[in-house]
Amino acid sequence: MKKKIAIIGSGIAGLTLAGLINSNSNFEFVVYEKEDVLSLEEGYGIQLSTNSVSILNKIGFNQKNKNEKYHPLKLDFYSIDCNKICDLDLSKFNSANDKYTTLKRSVLIKFLKDKLLSNSIIFRKKIKNIEQIDKKVNINFIDGSSDQVDFLIVSDGVFSSTKLAIEKSFLKPTYYGAIAIRSQIPNKNILNLNSNNISLIMGSNSHLVLYPINQKKELNLVCIIRKKNEDDVSINNILENTILKENKNLFNLFKGELKSWPIYITNKPVKSIHKNVLYIGDAFHTFPPTMAQGASQSIEAANEIFKLIIEDNPDLQNKYFIDRRKKTNLIIKRSKFNYFGFHISNPLLKSLRNKLLKYLVKNEKFTSHYLGKIYK
Ligand SMILES: Cc1cc2nc3c(=O)[nH]c(=O)nc-3n(C[C@H](O)[C@H](O)[C@H](O)COP(=O)(O)OP(=O)(O)OC[C@H]3O[C@@H](n4cnc5c(N)ncnc54)[C@H](O)[C@@H]3O)c2cc1C
Repeated sequence: MKKKIAIIGSGIAGLTLAGLINSNSNFEFVVYEKEDVLSLEEGYGIQLSTNSVSILNKIGFNQKNKNEKYHPLKLDFYSIDCNKICDLDLSKFNSANDKYTTLKRSVLIKFLKDKLLSNSIIFRKKIKNIEQIDKKVNINFIDGSSDQVDFLIVSDGVFSSTKLAIEKSFLKPTYYGAIAIRSQIPNKNILNLNSNNISLIMGSNSHLVLYPINQKKELNLVCIIRKKNEDDVSINNILENTILKENKNLFNLFKGELKSWPIYITNKPVKSIHKNVLYIGDAFHTFPPTMAQGASQSIEAANEIFKLIIEDNPDLQNKYFIDRRKKTNLIIKRSKFNYFGFHISNPLLKSLRNKLLKYLVKNEKFTSHYLGKIYK
């Protein structure tokens, strides 16, 4: 009999795993999603490094949506007054097929969904509890229905309520002390920045990232701004007192619709008390956004589980957890270091950082260690 896999949550992590399993007829799967429909929120851009693009390409990503993707070749670093400091060549991590990619999240979700049959995702489903019955997991849903599966893969995001229902103890996500502000902007509003590349503008206690998300070169803007508490303050007030205080001309970037939210991270990667329950994506660990690896790591984790399931690995849970934790810890360290470096406010330290940055981006040994280890 075919082994059955239940996936909880239809975000990037869950749908990637579904797409991979769908390509192998030896397994049965179903995705359970708590919402009524897929979340295809427009305007939210993501960056995918080559480590995740190579996995998506196995299920045909490079053949699809060519106009709705962009492949930036460089990352340009700027000071807050928009003076260019240096650039990093991203294309050296590309291969002929697998290229650093920027796009709307909705385009990726739609691509992944279109790979599946319409009955592969069951909406309005939330787990109440689970029981281990021999080697199987019995899932009981809040609506009274149930399902019995060989593996339960939990990918329900940073606030994973499934984790709460299953595990005896775990630490809740914590506020990272920063908020994100997003917008989509037309090409003409971007001052002297180069709209072909990713632009990273570093202020005091804040940074902005701007990149094209399709061949029309519509741009995604995300700002990360330090903010001690989660109190609700108007976005305009926050901008006035931070980024715009340092450079009024950046006002041009904030003319469109703005959205903001507090950034949460999880404290430790989670390993289930049940052998055949595994976590992927933000439910496994939520990163600070300063390496742009959340989506890419969700895709990598899905691929790791897929490989272990198809090879019928007897030590699947341990193997997955050890390898995933290692990579996760590497990215946490880099993300925290970037966060510190991007937000330096002391003028002397800023000038030192800029000098060091100019040297490091051209140093092969450094870039292949710092980024190559993550992008491979
Ligand atoms: C400001 C910011 C910028 C970012 N930029 C990037 C970037 O450029 N590149 C990048 O790689 N990553 C980026 N990320 C991170 C990335 O978006 C996430 O890491 C990634 O989307 C996580 O995917 P996921 O599938 O684990 O979770 P989600 O996308 O959160 O999906 C979870 C799904 O589970 C469903 N769900 C929730 N609870 C339940 C439940 N109880 N039962 C059933 N279903 C449930 C939800 O409705 C949702 O569909 C960024 C994050 C932030 C905050």
